[in-house]
Amino acid sequence: MRIVLVGPPGAGKGTQATRLAGKLSIPHISTGDLFRANISRQTELGKLAKVSMDAGNLLPDELTIAMAKDRMQQPDAESGFLLDGFPRNVSQAEALDELLKTEAITLDAVLDLEVPEGEVIKRIAGRRICRSGSAHVFHVSYSPPKKQGVCDVCGGELYQRDDDSEETVRKRLEVYHTQTEPIIEYYKTQGLAVTIPSLGPVDEVTRRALEALEREDDGK
Ligand code: ADP
Repeated sequence: MRIVLVGPPGAGKGTQATRLAGKLSIPHISTGDLFRANISRQTELGKLAKVSMDAGNLLPDELTIAMAKDRMQQPDAESGFLLDGFPRNVSQAEALDELLKTEAITLDAVLDLEVPEGEVIKRIAGRRICRSGSAHVFHVSYSPPKKQGVCDVCGGELYQRDDDSEETVRKRLEVYHTQTEPIIEYYKTQGLAVTIPSLGPVDEVTRRALEALEREDDGK
């Protein structure tokens, strides 16, 4: 399956992407994680990414599209992938369509994770992520790790992302509304977008997403 996950910061994209990719046996491709991996390796791309990310801005399209394309063309993504955080504006969505067209493949669904804005702020304020860069995500009150500051999955150190400060989150939300939300309409016109309420227990949200994917699959 080829799936795109869309939603505001704090919608639970990373959490749901890890679970869905595991259940569907497809790679989870997160442009945010790819940028963060570059930041920890202190590459040139990482240096550039840090400035944009800390300000809550998007990275340049050309660079993001090249990075995402390269990842999607790895052998493990041949029979499917779950994109998390890409595309993030209409020109990235158009570039993805071009790529899919040249490879004669199509998307199966675009899942739009929906959460109220007040909830987004609460989720992000308490979010802690693992230094390993493997998308292990915790929350100080909603899903605390067994040992404070330590990842349950791999023992890595947990930290708060620099771009999770309240000021940057407000900017990221604004960028989401102006640049990312229009792609939901774009995919609605292609008949691909499905809205999933991302409130309630994590398992419940995963169940809703899997059900929606089954429905999409049956409809084809
Ligand atoms: P979230 O979904 O919580 O906002 P991500 O980890 O997906 O977090 O992204 C964090 C930051 O990485 C974004 O605010 C942006 O600066 C950068 N980024 C991620 N994906 C893209 C993209 N497709 N295009 C441009 N910038 C991106």
